[in-house]
Amino acid sequence: MSVLLTLLAALIASGACAYHRSSLRSWAIATAVATLVVGLIAHAPWTTTILLIVELAIALPLLLVDFRRKQITLPILKIFAKVTPKLSETEQTALEAGTVGFEGELFSGKPDWHELLKQPKPELSVEEQAFMAGPVEELCAMIDDWQITHELADLPPKVWEFIKKNRFFGMIIPKQYGGLQFSALAHSAVLQKLSTASATVSSTVAVPNSLGPAELLLHYGSEEQKNHYLPRLAVGEEIPCFALTGPYAGSDATSIPDVGIVCKQVVDGVETLGIKLTFDKRYITLAPIATVVGLAFRMYDPEHLLGDKEDLGITLALLPRSTPGLEIGRRHFPLNIPFQNGPVRGKEVFAPLSVLIGGPQMAGHGWRMLVECLSVGRAISLPSNATGGMRASALATGAYARMRKQFGLAVARFEGVEEALARIGGLTYATAALSRATAAAVDRGEKPAVPSAIAKYHATEWARQIAADTMDVHGGKAVQLGPKNYAGRGWSAVPIAITVEGANIMTRSLMIFGQGAIRCHPYVLKEMQALSIADRGEQLKTFDRLLFGHIGFGISNAVRSFAMGVSGARLGETAGDAYTRRYYRKLDRYSAALALTADVFMGVLGGKLKFKEKLSARLGDVLSYLYIASSMLKQYEDNGRPEADRPFLAWGFHQCMWLIQNALDGAIRNFPVRPVAWLLRALVFPLGRREVPPSDRLGRRVAALLTAPNEALDRLTDWVYTTPTPNNTIGRMKALLPDVIAAEPVERKFGKAQKSGQFTAHDYLDQLVEAQQAGVISEAEANLLRHVREGVFEFISVDDFDSDELRAFKTRADAS
Ligand SMILES: Cc1cc2nc3c(=O)[nH]c(=O)nc-3n(C[C@H](O)[C@H](O)[C@H](O)COP(=O)(O)OP(=O)(O)OC[C@H]3O[C@@H](n4cnc5c(N)ncnc54)[C@H](O)[C@@H]3O)c2cc1C
Repeated sequence: MSVLLTLLAALIASGACAYHRSSLRSWAIATAVATLVVGLIAHAPWTTTILLIVELAIALPLLLVDFRRKQITLPILKIFAKVTPKLSETEQTALEAGTVGFEGELFSGKPDWHELLKQPKPELSVEEQAFMAGPVEELCAMIDDWQITHELADLPPKVWEFIKKNRFFGMIIPKQYGGLQFSALAHSAVLQKLSTASATVSSTVAVPNSLGPAELLLHYGSEEQKNHYLPRLAVGEEIPCFALTGPYAGSDATSIPDVGIVCKQVVDGVETLGIKLTFDKRYITLAPIATVVGLAFRMYDPEHLLGDKEDLGITLALLPRSTPGLEIGRRHFPLNIPFQNGPVRGKEVFAPLSVLIGGPQMAGHGWRMLVECLSVGRAISLPSNATGGMRASALATGAYARMRKQFGLAVARFEGVEEALARIGGLTYATAALSRATAAAVDRGEKPAVPSAIAKYHATEWARQIAADTMDVHGGKAVQLGPKNYAGRGWSAVPIAITVEGANIMTRSLMIFGQGAIRCHPYVLKEMQALSIADRGEQLKTFDRLLFGHIGFGISNAVRSFAMGVSGARLGETAGDAYTRRYYRKLDRYSAALALTADVFMGVLGGKLKFKEKLSARLGDVLSYLYIASSMLKQYEDNGRPEADRPFLAWGFHQCMWLIQNALDGAIRNFPVRPVAWLLRALVFPLGRREVPPSDRLGRRVAALLTAPNEALDRLTDWVYTTPTPNNTIGRMKALLPDVIAAEPVERKFGKAQKSGQFTAHDYLDQLVEAQQAGVISEAEANLLRHVREGVFEFISVDDFDSDELRAFKTRADAS
């Protein structure tokens, strides 16, 4: 017994030090003191002596720094240098682009919640609010999405004019160049609202404000280029597009075969130094109407007209539409969402060197320029459009499910529909928080490379889920296309969002964890960078510090993961109030589990992990759900911890925890080195898998929030275009919903009388007259039922057409 007690004391002291990340010295002292004190009290002199000798044998070589460096660190450094895969230039660029924000804390195993919670609440300025209430509202009122998507396959001229005149294309352009200079949050809010009126309009507005000529010029353009282009781009005098993708280079954009050869040519009688460009690009948004084409190509200087280097690398240029030989104008047709999109081609098109963005000195820096800008653009465009669509779905589907009656009940009352509504509510809350967090990160000056990939992937995947749920709840109403259908186009637009700005499978499998692990990990990137320190002594010193920091970090994460797993994350100091503390504790637990698992996977598989996409995708999922759950908690805090929002928060949070558990379980289950996987399982899930998905009861509370007006729903559907104009069915449904709810008790009374067979008429309206005459309902109640019946009829109705109206070619003459 006394032996056991002494051993236990030593273990607890060691564990506590590891849990709290004490220094090596504190660990040695604390463990020795605990062993000595408990050993003496328990009268276990032999055990105490043996334990102290073991502890000394471990601690001494580690504490003697010179000895440790030469005898332990140096051999490890040599092995590390041998096994560390050489990063390609492309990977190196991707890793170095962007900054690390709060996601770094999530990878630390011990997030500092104060860092997150002290960030100011993101808010729109007065000017931005005025823009939302003014031009954005006006633009939404002008939109007839059926006319755009079916009749014109384009925006009508007055909408184009309005967009340009009101500088929607200049949201990211500074005021000094005539732009709006909006915050990322405002940029996101505008896109969200527009996407609730038309996916075609929001995509059209998103592109010039995302990765493209304006963004690239702002960061890398020469003064002359900025002064020339930015004022024109701000007011839509120039329409930009950016052409990177081609038939042979999609996701692997660095493999573009498009070339620019440096050469001299006589232009207007003057010998001019320039480039001869040959390129074939496709899928380029706004290309058919673009007046200036951003172009990515590989630049070569075979005659050494610029310098020694022949292959200069990926380079970016801006070609005016008038450039001789530039071929644009035809259109692709992306899934019936007819924003302008098409190919751009050119063969030996000559352009002077002045077309290079940033001038000749930026030749070869194109990939870095793109990757750096992508982390900002990707954080806003797709996440905002997805969030807007989801918010509108939540509003429309909740209202529709309450209005649409089958089997004598509102369909919202059926548990199957309730399940879909719960997903819509919970995932919309989570996505809105995610989108807001990435916009806020951009506004803090970050270049959120990892969060933007998380936001792009998860916002669009969840939008796909919600689009499907929305369709299902609406049944045939959403299937029949026409002006009355507000869901069908959103559903067909989803795969576009999945594909662009980093196709989703690749974003999940390769980028989130690939970048996240190396960028956010407190040691890995620094260890890799230490390999390139030229001074051997300095290299050893640096690597030693990092290596032992890393080992301590790993041990601490193992202890933390195990301890929090055993306690079911019920113990420990963390942030939050009585309601949210358990949430923060769960995040602490899974942060430690992620850090531990990632370290073990990287340590055991090394460079091979890069090719084990199914494993790294799952670890990326864990990081993503930690990030999303943290964003939800921050949103809840920023909104003043509203009790009304708790069902949304709880649903979204438990869903994230459930998905984290599945991802960790799947990663460990499929880890090829089985004994390591068994050990990991014991540390990560010491009591097995205890997370459960959101309960049916919680789902019912979420669904209830979607089907009646309330403050939580107002927050969830913020920035949805709800003005009940003739073109806005969703707004008019929202306006009718209170009457629908008020009519329900009257309907019950009326229904009872109907069932009792007391009416002689068969027609509903005639029966109402009878019910009123019989005193079953009052005149006001009868009027209410009439008004609701008429109002709801409009929303359950669908369109029909003459065959001619549906033909793309109206006559044989058109077709030929
Ligand atoms: C409507 C629309 C608008 C667009 N606008 C523009 C634009 O304005 N400018 C522009 O330059 N481009 C644009 N694009 C191109 C877009 O960025 C590409 O479609 C995208 O990069 C994917 O390339 P791809 O379609 O050739 O798919 P592919 O690269 O052929 O990918 C096929 C599948 O393989 C997966 N995959 C590829 N590599 C990996 C990997 N390493 N690991 C795991 N999975 C992988 C992908 O995720 C995808 O699922 C647009 C595309 C569309 C559809």
